[in-house]
Amino acid sequence: MESNKYICPDCGAEMLQEYEKPALNLSCPKCGCKIATTKWEEIDLDDTVYSICIEPFENPTMEQIKVISKSTGMNFAASKTFLKSGGILFRGSATEILEKKKTLEANSCLFHIAPTFKY
Ligand SMILES: [Zn+2]
Repeated sequence: MESNKYICPDCGAEMLQEYEKPALNLSCPKCGCKIATTKWEEIDLDDTVYSICIEPFENPTMEQIKVISKSTGMNFAASKTFLKSGGILFRGSATEILEKKKTLEANSCLFHIAPTFKY
């Protein structure tokens, strides 16, 4: 994800980057020059509200049901019913959606995100 290079204003060496969102600390390995700045990634600035919609499952696995249960706070039975019928699991910001997406993908849940989610 990190592709930008920062060049030391004093000596022109490539600076080392330490990113603790949103603080970006730059230090020069050559002359010791330090610069602190802030940097937001595109996803942080995206104020679109996204929805994760679960595709209906015939036979959800235990793990998938647990993921839904954890994500929604619904009990086991309700989560199972939800997986079988499908529907909107979650609405939220891009960063929240990204986190849920990873969990769902890790558990082979079928879902889609609207509007188009590019992260
Ligand atoms: Zn330098």
